[in-house]
Amino acid sequence: MTKVAIIGGGASGLLCAIFCAKFGAHVEVYEQNNKCAKKILVSGNGRCNITNRNLSHNDFFGANPSFVNDALKNFGFKEFERFALEIGLLLDIKEDGRVYPLSNEAKSVAKLLQVTAENLGVIFHTDTKITNVKKLLQTHGKVVIATGSEAAHHLGGNSDGQSFAKEFGHTIIPTYPSLVQLHLNSKIVHKMSGAKTDGEVTLLVNNKKDSTCRGDILFTDYGVSGFAVLDISQRASVALMNSQSIGVSINLLPKFNAQQLSEHIVKVAKSMPKFSILDILVGLIPIKIATSLLDDLKISHGVQAKEVDLKLTKKIANQMLNWRFEVSGTHGFRHAEVSGGGVDTREINPKTMESLKQKNLYFCGEVLDIVGRRGGYNFAFAWASGYAVAKGIASS
Ligand SMILES: Cc1cc2nc3c(=O)[nH]c(=O)nc-3n(C[C@H](O)[C@H](O)[C@H](O)COP(=O)(O)OP(=O)(O)OC[C@H]3O[C@@H](n4cnc5c(N)ncnc54)[C@H](O)[C@@H]3O)c2cc1C
Repeated sequence: MTKVAIIGGGASGLLCAIFCAKFGAHVEVYEQNNKCAKKILVSGNGRCNITNRNLSHNDFFGANPSFVNDALKNFGFKEFERFALEIGLLLDIKEDGRVYPLSNEAKSVAKLLQVTAENLGVIFHTDTKITNVKKLLQTHGKVVIATGSEAAHHLGGNSDGQSFAKEFGHTIIPTYPSLVQLHLNSKIVHKMSGAKTDGEVTLLVNNKKDSTCRGDILFTDYGVSGFAVLDISQRASVALMNSQSIGVSINLLPKFNAQQLSEHIVKVAKSMPKFSILDILVGLIPIKIATSLLDDLKISHGVQAKEVDLKLTKKIANQMLNWRFEVSGTHGFRHAEVSGGGVDTREINPKTMESLKQKNLYFCGEVLDIVGRRGGYNFAFAWASGYAVAKGIASS
């Protein structure tokens, strides 16, 4: 009987364990934490954005994003859905393609994966940190490195998988935090801490527009968070790693252009002459943001509506649509959802996920140099690569 040791009881390791056992192998999972699937449990704010209905290599980043093609072809959305149904995990497919468990609870996903594996005879060793892969190869014959990435240390994130890979001669593509908050070099941003708006964030690399994302923008003590920020963070993090100078331009009101906004301010100023400029702005944006924006422009909050001239209006409108901040860094691996970089996929067989450097050694999930967009793509690759390993082991 084929013996398989899986290092890591996270998303990719659990899925891999289930299919290895289904294909007839004796499977043991080694997990350093006291329980498996800690990242699944917190994912999607406790709801787990489990996959996406629309999957293609364009949703992934890495030195070779098309590496994902074989795995997604064999275990894409349809195959995942069939598997989920089989284990009784019903899915809620959103209009934009994001998929959640129907229960709306990440706990359902973690529990069903674990009990399915146990029912198939998979043996779990929790509180067991693996340090010696060569020994495991001798005792088990086949070893799967499913140790994830450095993101979210408190949930078990580390770089063990990369260290293991290096022992076998693998190249590591430099890692960086992704889907992460950004630090801004600004004296006023902390004053807006807690204020949230729906807007647009444009990443500026060496002062040139790079990419724009729309969605929630949440100001914090150190900078900015929110979905729009997480979405541009992958490119921001790579640019920072390459020592490029980066900034963000925040558009607080993407539905307006500068002229419409100026006209609106003038109109309110005319109809409400006793209003202050702050009173006019709070009809458009959260008050903490409005006060900081005026402070940044060195405009007194008490300027009367009747004093608001065209020059002042234009200045305010431009700042609301293109408020620029220098980015000093990211909020780091501890707070990142995922990590980019990792084991170079050019040294891995994309069909079986077996190492091209060491026979019987396999990799799956985030330890590899593949990172997905926000929207269920990271789990999608964890499932697909875990399945590819199981298929690869079965066919060997
Ligand atoms: C807060 C948060 C929210 C997220 N939300 C989503 C989401 O909604 N949708 C989505 O697609 N993705 C989401 N992600 C990303 C997703 O969780 C990961 O991409 C996915 O879990 C990666 O699976 P993996 O198996 O590669 O690694 P992991 O799930 O991290 O599993 C790796 C396991 O290996 C263990 N391990 C590490 N080293 C050793 C060792 N030496 N010995 C034994 N065990 C070891 C770890 O403890 C861990 O349990 C989120 C991540 C975070 C942090």
